[in-house]
Amino acid sequence: MAALTARYGRPEPALEYGSPYQLAVAVVLSAQTTDKQVNSVTPRLFERYPDFTALAAARISELEKIIKRVGFFRTKAKNIRELARLVTNLHKGVLPSDREALMKLPGVGRKSANVILAMGFGVPAFAVDTHVLRVSNRIGYARTDSPDVVESCLTAVIPSEDWIAGHLLFITHGRETCKARGPLCTRCPVSALCDFAGNIP
Ligand code: SF4
Repeated sequence: MAALTARYGRPEPALEYGSPYQLAVAVVLSAQTTDKQVNSVTPRLFERYPDFTALAAARISELEKIIKRVGFFRTKAKNIRELARLVTNLHKGVLPSDREALMKLPGVGRKSANVILAMGFGVPAFAVDTHVLRVSNRIGYARTDSPDVVESCLTAVIPSEDWIAGHLLFITHGRETCKARGPLCTRCPVSALCDFAGNIP
């Protein structure tokens, strides 16, 4: 972790948000699409619907219009409105800060719940996305395609105080150096620790 911090510093999340409400909506919108696309629609969305109560009363057709640049926008329009309705009705309009309750919300799986816990509430969690999965397998923290197993392997050996920063560092490392195709092993700050250094097909 120290070598990654020395290279990348303390990376910021790529999704733009200003509250747990905005984070939860942005995370649901970010599934299978780029953070950049999400950031291009959320300012208008949050201006029009500033909280869960407002979003809960939204018309689906209007939501679809605002978020149409995001992949799977029809499903996501339904998910974010239903999420807002559940938070409004079951949690008095306040996003819950425990994993179990978050994972009952539409569009929120374990990875998304971990992102919301970590970035929205500062609760230690190690969200495993495609970059974290790839980097963890290459370095040798895990040997599996299962994000849940990778999360268990990472959290078993990395101190909990490093989970939030570690998630962002692994993503940054995956984007900038340990790329899916053509990892830059000769410029890698953790090549000495990596099982796959220079050996990626
Ligand atoms: S040495 Fe190569 S494969 Fe290993 S972590 Fe670095 S970039 Fe990725």
